Amino acid sequence: MNFQQLDNNDQKLIEAAKEVLLKNYDPVRHTVGAAVICSTGNIYTGINIEACGYGPCAEPIAIGAAFTNGEREIIAITAVCKKDDGFLVLSPCGNCRQLLMDYSPNAMVLFSYEGKVFKTQARNLLPGAYISDFASV
Ligand SMILES: [Zn+2]
Repeated sequence: MNFQQLDNNDQKLIEAAKEVLLKNYDPVRHTVGAAVICSTGNIYTGINIEACGYGPCAEPIAIGAAFTNGEREIIAITAVCKKDDGFLVLSPCGNCRQLLMDYSPNAMVLFSYEGKVFKTQARNLLPGAYISDFASV
């Protein structure tokens, strides 16, 4: 698998995810912040919405904000949570990996692996993925 090192733009994305999480943090309801950067250069953020039964992750909220504002191409995405005195970049869950496959399979996804943060294309995080009729693959 092609894991790449982060660059300054990735750090900006992480900072945006941290910022939205700090603004909205709640130890039960909102524990994850996400940020996406689109082909226009705009950054959109979101937080998870914890609820009984189903609470959407922060990533679909950020992706939804981008698409709501007319964006159609996500270049990169990250999600963070608070950990000890700092933050931890999270790996996307299976549902979010499928969402990214459907909408932006070429987007770079920041994720944690063996204690370090890397990035790779969304398509690399879901080998043998189900491909829906409307996917952007
Ligand atoms: Zn998720």
